[in-house]
Amino acid sequence: MTTKNRLYNIVTFGCQMNKADSERMAGILEKMGFQWSEDPNNADLILYNTCTIRDNAEQKVYSYLGRQAKRKHEQPDLTLIVAGCVAQQEGEQLLRRVPELDLVMGPQHANRLEDLLEQVFNGEQVVATEAINIVEDITKPRRESKVTAWVNVIYGCNERCTYCVVPGVRGVEQSRTPAAIKAEMIELGELGYKEVTLLGQNIDAYGRDLPGVTESGRYKHTLTDLLYYVHDVPGIERIRFATSHPRYFTERLIKACKELPKVCEHFHIPFQSGDNEVLKAMARGYTHEKYRGIIEKIREYMPDASISADAIVGFPGETEAQFEKTLKLVEDIGFDQLNTAAYSPRPGTPAALWENQVSEEVKRLRLSSLNHLVSLKAAERTQRYLGRREEVLVEDQNPKETTQVMGRTRGNRLTFFPGNIEELKGKLVQVEITEARAFSLTGKGTVGVL
Ligand code: SF4
Repeated sequence: MTTKNRLYNIVTFGCQMNKADSERMAGILEKMGFQWSEDPNNADLILYNTCTIRDNAEQKVYSYLGRQAKRKHEQPDLTLIVAGCVAQQEGEQLLRRVPELDLVMGPQHANRLEDLLEQVFNGEQVVATEAINIVEDITKPRRESKVTAWVNVIYGCNERCTYCVVPGVRGVEQSRTPAAIKAEMIELGELGYKEVTLLGQNIDAYGRDLPGVTESGRYKHTLTDLLYYVHDVPGIERIRFATSHPRYFTERLIKACKELPKVCEHFHIPFQSGDNEVLKAMARGYTHEKYRGIIEKIREYMPDASISADAIVGFPGETEAQFEKTLKLVEDIGFDQLNTAAYSPRPGTPAALWENQVSEEVKRLRLSSLNHLVSLKAAERTQRYLGRREEVLVEDQNPKETTQVMGRTRGNRLTFFPGNIEELKGKLVQVEITEARAFSLTGKGTVGVL
C-alpha cells in the first residue's frame, strides 16, 4: 500500500512520556509519507496513544474507537492503531473487543512503528506487546513546539509502587547512552530549540542499567553526570528534568542544579502521601521526614526554587488522620503547584485487589479539601513574584488575548505579557511581574530582550 499523501491523526492521552512517544511516532509516519490531518474523521490512519492511569482516559479511548470502528466498515483501508499503556495492558483482549483494529502496540514498541505497519499493510493484524530492547530512535519526532522539546533519557521503571501500572506496561529501565542524548540535544539546538526537558518515569534511576562504576563505587552514569555532560550544548538555554523520585534524589544533584546555570530551579518531586504507613503501603521507599529533608536541602541551596509534586488521596486503608498528614505536609512545604488525584484502582496492580478501599464519597471530599489548600498555598507562594523581573521563554501567543504572548519562567510558571509573537517566539525576555495569580503571572511588558 502506498503511504504517500495519506492522512494521519494521533490522539494522545496521559503523561509527558506519552506525548513524547506520540511526537516520535508522528515523525515516523511523516517519514513514511503520511501527512497530518487535524480532523481524525478525515484521516486514513488513526493512532490512539493511550493511558491507564485514570479510568476515564481508558473509557474515552473505547468510545472514540467505537466511532472509528464503524467508519472502517465504510472505509476498509482505514488503519486503526492503539498504542501506549492500554494497548500494553489489554493486548489481544483489545482485538477481541474491537476486531476492526489493525495494530495494538505497547509503549516499548513506539520506535518500531514503521516495521509494524509494514506487517499491517501486508494484511496482518498485529499485537506487539512483548518486552524488547528499545531500539535507538533515528527518525525525527514531529515536535509540537518549536521552542521547547522533550528528550527521553530512560524508558521503563523498576520500582513497584503498589498503585502504578507503569512497570507492567513500560517494562524495565532502559537508559539511553549519554552520547545519544547529547546528539539529540545538539540537533535540537541547531533547529532553534531553546529548552529541553529530560524525561524518565523515574529519572533519578538514569544510568543504573548502563555499564560501569566509579572508583568510589557509585554508578558511572547518573542523572547528575548527565546534566554536566549535556549542559553546554549550544543554543539550548534551559534544561529541566522530570520525574524525580524522593527515594533516589541526591544532594549531589541539588548541587549540580545550583551550579549549572542552564538547569532551571524547578523541581517536580511527587510525595504521594504525607503519612509513613500509607507510603509504606504504596511501596514508595521513603518517609515523609526524608521528603521534607530533600525540600529543605533544595531551599538551602536555592531559596527561591519552585517545587511541584503529585499527591494521591484515598489510597486503600487511608484514615482521616493519615489524610490530615498529607494536608500538614502541604501546609508546611507550600508547593508552587501540586497535581492531586483521588486513588483509582488500576487492573493488574496490587492495591487494586485490597479489600480496604476507601469510598468514592470520602475520596471526593478529601480531594476537594486538598485542592482548596493547594490553591491557598499556591496563591500565597506566588506573591513573591510581584514586582520582580522574571526571565520568560516565549512559547506562543495567548490564545485568549492575542495582543499577549505567553511563556514560562525558570520556575515553570506560566506568564503572559503584551507582545508580538512573530518577534518574540523563542526569545528569553525579562518581564516585570504586575499580577500574580495562584498558578500564573502577568507582566507589564518587556523590560529588555536578552
Ligand atoms: S516510580 Fe512508582 S509511580 Fe513512578 S512510574 Fe515507577 S512504579 Fe510508577
